[in-house]
Amino acid sequence: MMYAVVFTLIGFAIMELSGWFIHKYIMHGPLWSIHKTHHQPSKSFFELNDLFSLLFGSIAIGLILTGAENLDYRFWMGVGISIYGMLYFIIHDVLVHRRLKWFNRPQNKYLLGIFKAHQDHHATNKKNDAVSFGLFVVPKKYFKR
Ligand SMILES: [Zn+2]
Ligand SMILES: [Zn+2]
Repeated sequence: MMYAVVFTLIGFAIMELSGWFIHKYIMHGPLWSIHKTHHQPSKSFFELNDLFSLLFGSIAIGLILTGAENLDYRFWMGVGISIYGMLYFIIHDVLVHRRLKWFNRPQNKYLLGIFKAHQDHHATNKKNDAVSFGLFVVPKKYFKR
């Protein structure tokens, strides 16, 4: 039981860490041509940038499938990545960008900080002067009123 929780948390944490790194150095780097579709008003529901979600989703599915037989660490890390992906989708795509109008923005203090930080990330449409690349872990200043 403890084993499952630990590796699920590790999968989740790796996503926030590597997500921050990939967003800052790769998406706002060599793969900007793909990611910029998320920084511009989009004409259709899907953005080229959604390819990144497909990539992370495939990694999660791959881990779950390879670890399924023995329910080993790969399975639980895949579960952690999947939970991250679902929460990312609800917070980033539904609540912040309102791609689906499922519910109104909650007034929860932690979530408001996350929203502010991500809005700050979108304050620019350029490759080089963006700030705040993480989603769940953001500087303390965003939680002050
Ligand atoms: Zn960005
Ligand atoms: Zn965004």
